[in-house]
Amino acid sequence: MPDRYDVVIIGAGPGGYVAAIRAAQIGLQTACVEGRDSLGGTCLNIGCIPSKALLQSSEKFAEARHALAEHGIKVGDVGLDLGAMMARKDRVVTTLTRGVEFLFRKNKIDWLKGIARITAPGRVAIAGADGTEREVEAGSIVIATGSESTPLPGVPIDEQRILSSTGALALDHVPNRLVVIGGGYIGLELGSVWQRLGANVTVVELLDRIVPNMDRELATALQRVLTRQGIEFKLGAKVAQIHKAGDGVAIEIEGAERQSLSADAVLVAIGRRPCTKGLGLETIGVERDAQGRVVVDDGFATSVAGIYAIGDVIRGPMLAHKAMEEGAALAERLAGQKPSIDYNAIPAVVYTWPEVASVGSTEEELKAAGTLYRAGKFPFTATPRARTNGDTDGFVKILADSATDRILGAHIIGPDAGTLIAEATLAIEFGASAEDIARTCHAHPTLSEAMKEAALGVDGRAIHI
Ligand SMILES: Cc1cc2nc3c(=O)[nH]c(=O)nc-3n(C[C@H](O)[C@H](O)[C@H](O)COP(=O)(O)OP(=O)(O)OC[C@H]3O[C@@H](n4cnc5c(N)ncnc54)[C@H](O)[C@@H]3O)c2cc1C
Repeated sequence: MPDRYDVVIIGAGPGGYVAAIRAAQIGLQTACVEGRDSLGGTCLNIGCIPSKALLQSSEKFAEARHALAEHGIKVGDVGLDLGAMMARKDRVVTTLTRGVEFLFRKNKIDWLKGIARITAPGRVAIAGADGTEREVEAGSIVIATGSESTPLPGVPIDEQRILSSTGALALDHVPNRLVVIGGGYIGLELGSVWQRLGANVTVVELLDRIVPNMDRELATALQRVLTRQGIEFKLGAKVAQIHKAGDGVAIEIEGAERQSLSADAVLVAIGRRPCTKGLGLETIGVERDAQGRVVVDDGFATSVAGIYAIGDVIRGPMLAHKAMEEGAALAERLAGQKPSIDYNAIPAVVYTWPEVASVGSTEEELKAAGTLYRAGKFPFTATPRARTNGDTDGFVKILADSATDRILGAHIIGPDAGTLIAEATLAIEFGASAEDIARTCHAHPTLSEAMKEAALGVDGRAIHI
């Protein structure tokens, strides 16, 4: 392997591996340093992919137990083989991480295995697992080192009884009682998995609402559906203490009243923090903000010339697709192109059932900014395809500027919301109006008709309600 590259990327998550592929496509000699045994970062190994595999499997289990009878299907005794479910999840992960290895080979990207440290601008040292160290020269260095679970102070994670998301993706039994600390998307998704598989799940959230970054109306609707499914919520509740007690865990919470909860396991899902430890940023003077994120300008340049950063380690939502967009855009910038990312058009999805998806501004944000807007809302109960599927929970809400009709935000709770949001994202990216969606022919019967009807609703002319 050469000792000099045009670009050396540190971290092979969705930010880093996409940056590497795009840089290689453009013709830059590219290497990617990754300390894990497999490529794909948090997303493929311990994040998006294993969580969605378990959500899919647990959804099928719950469907077989509760929902198929409505369709006239008798399935007899439904049993759970958790080992087989976990093995399937692991196979999905391996297939996809090997897929990234294949893409690296195809694009002639060198995977430098080991832990990277920036020794000087243009120089990266890589410590291998076997104790060897080598140093390479880089025209540009990209920090794509991602994030890790934020711990609760004084509560050590053992991944047996006190879990991070990583442990909650790999339990070998269904806990009888699971307490989830944090009502964000990771806590709700993993809480849903274990609730569907038979655990009694309680979500404890400091704020007075769940999914704090989303439109409040969606949060309220989601909490209602999840409560109906059997998840209990304690909002406005602060965890005072967690300690092991007997075979389980005791959780003391403070809120309107002090309460004690006991559980077999507790999942700490209070957020994620950027990963920069050991990179040598202090020595070379790469600036970080109060939250530990690497500070970058609009072109992803850090405070040190020739060093860039993308993905979870910088500002913005910690989402795989945001990291991927930044990876591709940065590679193109290094090749002299001028791409830009519209951060207002980055969708966010919670993969519970029903799914929840948002893009653009929430109603609260528009009100706070004094923006005049009109809202069109359409429920899935009035959407024929949702009726045929037996999935009628939720609605689509489209927010458009009162004066120009330009779409400012779209918020969906309902079946396949994560797929439906793509239409609204495209609309925002293109500066489309609600009228543009309302005038677009949507196939019948599909769930996407709810998008058209909500857009019609902005002008008070929805047809089917
Ligand atoms: C349970 C869970 C579910 C999630 N679900 C979703 C989802 O459904 N959709 C979504 O968009 N996002 C989801 N996310 C978030 C998503 O995983 C991250 O936003 C995304 O992985 C960030 O990509 P990244 O490239 O910035 O960093 P990462 O994916 O974190 O990758 C960084 C890589 O850098 C490596 N690294 C770090 N330091 C060094 C070093 N010094 N030397 C060498 N290598 C190093 C790490 O080993 C890691 O592999 C989820 C996260 C979790 C935990």
